[in-house]
Amino acid sequence: MTKNLHRSIHADLPVAVGGRGIELFDADGKAYIDASGGAAVSCLGHGHPEVLAALHAQLDKLAYAHTGFFTTEVAERLADRLVTASPDGIDYVYLVSGGSEAMEAALKMARQYFVEKGEDRRRHVIARRQSYHGNTLGALAAGGNQSRRAQFRPLLIETHHIAPCYAYRGRLPAESEHQYGERVANELETKILELGPDEVIAFVAETVVGATAGAVPPVDDYFKKIREICDRYGVLLILDEVMCGMGRTGTLHAFEQDGIVPDMVAIAKGLGGGYQPIGAVLFGRHIYEAFASGSGFFQHGHTYMGHPMAAAAALAVQDAIREHRLLDNAVKMGELLNRRLRERFYDHHHIGDIRGRGLFRGLEIVAERSDKSPFDPALKLHAAVKREAMARGLMVYPMGGTMDGVRGDHILLAPPFIINAGQVDTIVERLSDALDGAVASSVARSR
Ligand code: PLP
Repeated sequence: MTKNLHRSIHADLPVAVGGRGIELFDADGKAYIDASGGAAVSCLGHGHPEVLAALHAQLDKLAYAHTGFFTTEVAERLADRLVTASPDGIDYVYLVSGGSEAMEAALKMARQYFVEKGEDRRRHVIARRQSYHGNTLGALAAGGNQSRRAQFRPLLIETHHIAPCYAYRGRLPAESEHQYGERVANELETKILELGPDEVIAFVAETVVGATAGAVPPVDDYFKKIREICDRYGVLLILDEVMCGMGRTGTLHAFEQDGIVPDMVAIAKGLGGGYQPIGAVLFGRHIYEAFASGSGFFQHGHTYMGHPMAAAAALAVQDAIREHRLLDNAVKMGELLNRRLRERFYDHHHIGDIRGRGLFRGLEIVAERSDKSPFDPALKLHAAVKREAMARGLMVYPMGGTMDGVRGDHILLAPPFIINAGQVDTIVERLSDALDGAVASSVARSR
């Protein structure tokens, strides 16, 4: 019997023993195509020789030095690389060990920024419903997914939530996409005015919503309007690209496709591609300078921040992506995946929406396509899809609660950037079989 408290106590997990390219292998020798990169993590697939070599070399040189005493060459090189590869306005890096830590740091950095500037009154964080920003208490408080928050609500700091930009569910029939984007963006201004413009710290959003809604991209110009509103009231814009960033959507940062630059962006997952735990906050000069000319330090820190092994993994992953032009492949294969999904599911009774960018794609499952009604949440259709897909040697990332934290189901696909056209076809075939199998078994159980 296991002594680990696994995510689900009653799940019977296969034992992973190896991985190569886009596949993982279990102890029985069964292979699984990793079409979700775990949870949008493994952007280079598994066992990449260049990353392994970089990790061995770093281990032989230096495994760890506390950042209170030293910096390391590899951490400096990684920060240089991330800033150089980012658009103007992204000038500094704060390295941590994962996505929740990155979001936690971003929230505290935003608050301290205003304290440094003498604007102590600023204390409110505004985020969006149906979002996920991590599981630590600050990040969880910013998140807007009701079922993830519910039992911890008494412990959470006060935060405020506006509507997401989720056109499939939210756009009114008479509205253009542009009008819809304006309407939901304007909710931010209303909320800022309600809370008091000089009391708001930041607006927090996933550029493309990941786990809680299934690769939901914003409509055109939504983030331009958001940026405008933040600027009007001196509110910081914090984008959470933990899942959708680092090339997943075809550009290094997803926000590059929206024509804006945030004050801070949180990254993780694809930064180190799963080879080591690592995350970061990237941010603008104005924030750095407020700290530099004020107290001279950020009142934060973790034992493993800037870890040399993690930095070496991230640097090697980012090198390999550049060297092998894998963002070009992500764009090309992302378009192919989108096309194949549309061909396969265009008239599928239970697929209501196919969406996403690059190699970040979501399918929203519905009971009835004509009125977009969801399956009964008690059926846990998303869990059945995962089970059926694993039985067919396919890893996808399905989730329930797509609409409001309780109702709705979706499937998230986030395959490695090294994927080829034949593998895209195999993924779509296996997914189609898994979905049909899941619907059939769930419907049969409900009778
Ligand atoms: N933010 C987003 C958008 C995420 O998808 C996640 C994880 O799924 C997190 C934050 C938290 O990251 P981590 O699980 O590395 O703490």
